[in-house]
Amino acid sequence: MSGLKPSFHGPPGILKIMSTQNISVHLPDGAVRQVPSGTTPLEIANSISPRLASAAVVARISPLTTGKGMQASGEQPAEAAMYGADDTAGPRLVDLSAPLTEDVHLELLTEKNPESLKVVRHSAAHVMATAVLELFPETKLGHGPATDSGFFYDFYREKPFTPDDLAAIEARMAQVIARDEPFIREFAPREKSLEDFERDGDFMKAHFIARFTHPGEQVSFYRNGNFVDFCRGPNVPSTGRVKSVKVTNLAGAYWLGDEKNPQLQRVYGTAFFSKKEMDEHFARLEEAARRDHRVLGKQLDLFSIQELAGAGLIFWHPKGAMIRKIMEDWMRDECLERGYQLVYTPHVARVNLWQTSGHEGFYAQNMFTPMELDDADYRVKPMNCPFHILIYQNSPKSYRDLPVRYAELGNVYRYERSGTMHGLLRVRGFTQDDAHIFCMPSQIEDEVVACIDFAEAVLKTFGFKEFQVELSTWDPKDRAHYAGSEENWNLAVSSLERALSRKGIAYKTIPGEAAFYGPKIDVKLVDVLGRLWQLSTVQFDFNLPARFQMEYVGEDGERHQPVMVHRALFGSVERFFGVLIEHYAGAFPLWLAPVQMGLVPISERHKAYAEKVEAELKAAGFRVEVDARNEKMNAKIRDFANQKTPYILVFGDKEEAAGAVSVRTRGKGDQGSMPLAEFIAKAEALVASKSTEL
Ligand SMILES: [Zn+2]
Ligand SMILES: [Zn+2]
Repeated sequence: MSGLKPSFHGPPGILKIMSTQNISVHLPDGAVRQVPSGTTPLEIANSISPRLASAAVVARISPLTTGKGMQASGEQPAEAAMYGADDTAGPRLVDLSAPLTEDVHLELLTEKNPESLKVVRHSAAHVMATAVLELFPETKLGHGPATDSGFFYDFYREKPFTPDDLAAIEARMAQVIARDEPFIREFAPREKSLEDFERDGDFMKAHFIARFTHPGEQVSFYRNGNFVDFCRGPNVPSTGRVKSVKVTNLAGAYWLGDEKNPQLQRVYGTAFFSKKEMDEHFARLEEAARRDHRVLGKQLDLFSIQELAGAGLIFWHPKGAMIRKIMEDWMRDECLERGYQLVYTPHVARVNLWQTSGHEGFYAQNMFTPMELDDADYRVKPMNCPFHILIYQNSPKSYRDLPVRYAELGNVYRYERSGTMHGLLRVRGFTQDDAHIFCMPSQIEDEVVACIDFAEAVLKTFGFKEFQVELSTWDPKDRAHYAGSEENWNLAVSSLERALSRKGIAYKTIPGEAAFYGPKIDVKLVDVLGRLWQLSTVQFDFNLPARFQMEYVGEDGERHQPVMVHRALFGSVERFFGVLIEHYAGAFPLWLAPVQMGLVPISERHKAYAEKVEAELKAAGFRVEVDARNEKMNAKIRDFANQKTPYILVFGDKEEAAGAVSVRTRGKGDQGSMPLAEFIAKAEALVASKSTEL
């Protein structure tokens, strides 16, 4: 960065002297202050209370007059947002030292505002780059943004960083923080800056300036100490405000994601407001790693992904398949009880069908490429909907037949880019617990209430206590982007709203988030670590019934178009299973555990009693495994415990004589001896109530 000398253009003091005008600053409590143009948020904070001034991290302003200075944001919004000119039309975060030059609403954000952490992390990336250039001055800088869990910086340096280098970078960052250097915003002419960067071999910074700024502009830099970075900000007031920081890991990344380009070193780090928050973060990560379904899937022999077969395709091993059978049996029985009819449909269909449904047009990039057969081209199905419509249309329907509810555990295949797959969570082939409801407009509300009831039953049954609901609606100002009439949309949205309020469920409405073909309700469950998982969806569709010209004969003898609702509750069986594994850390409740009881005969001579115990448990419907190996008792117990078997039943002479078993309960240890009949009665009750306790 040497040689780069941005000219001062807008530091607060200078502007203040230049201006004699007053502006009005509206504060969140409704107060309005008249201050000279050029006053900074920090000065306003100080005039309110010095405590607020020292607690403030960043400011949020939104102009009272809007509609000017709007910038197009290009095709990479995240980067454009970091490097492009300020979007001055809407609300935005600014430095505490930014001069205010127009009438604004001003909010001072402290550590309590979640946005503040992102600003701290962005500034931490500057601190990291400062440290790297001090230690390795030959390094060239790339992109350095905040992320949801921290930040990273891309560096170009021929020699890869070693673990020792990373430790040195972290130690130097602590020094940069201790120096408490103010972050000072500076501006320089674009052309001069480009020239400087190019001359110094800073090809990445030159690229960002060329790409995200425009000829003739002044471009924005931030200086701390001797370090200057091309950046639009905002940043915290000084490096000392980056309190707790850690370098976490190093990964390779190609410049601009293209493997023909130089390989960069992406150094990741994270920052928090305190060491305590940092420690909690890492404890949570450790806990999440302990629960990782890919690790547990292997350890408990539940499923695999086979290199030879291809990425994103799941092989369910016997123990995983047993859990799946229990999930599917429950789901099918529950569907029948709730008035659904079960159907099965093919895995492939002629391209013509996908043309009629519209998938050939708007969904083709998510589908496997066509297979050429002698009579036509076929595609593997990405969705089951058109198939259920064909069954509906196979015979005429009258209002008396409605609602029609078809349910299927349907295998679908969707194209995901190689390298993007993730265990059971992101796959190319999965099973939807899919259903389609065809009904009259007057039936919508009851159907939606029933869907929400069903979704609640799924979550409760599988052991989740908390969930969040979102209602995605359309943007009525953008009519051209949506299929279906305004009347239909209003009816659908109000039915969803009424259904939710009838259930007394709190929800968040997200306008403009609906698919083009109809509004929807999404249910996100909260797992034991507080993570949110999007699973159940209840989705309206005005598009497919029209495309397939679906109809029913109404009470009036006329033909009408039915309303169609897609709904999936597990979402994907694979994904739900992945969430279950992580939620329970592989220690499934008794009713789901693939092996519910591990039997441990103490020696060879208890073989006959082991067979008797096994037979009685199996007769009672339990899944049991006997370890008859000639191994030490403790080794057998340990093996069952590693498999997270809910109960380990141990027996020797004493138990055999008493018709008893010695019970070791998962998570509770040795519970002593119990008559077999009593144990069976207890376990039966736990299974019947689908208890999560043992
Ligand atoms: Zn920056
Ligand atoms: Zn569907």
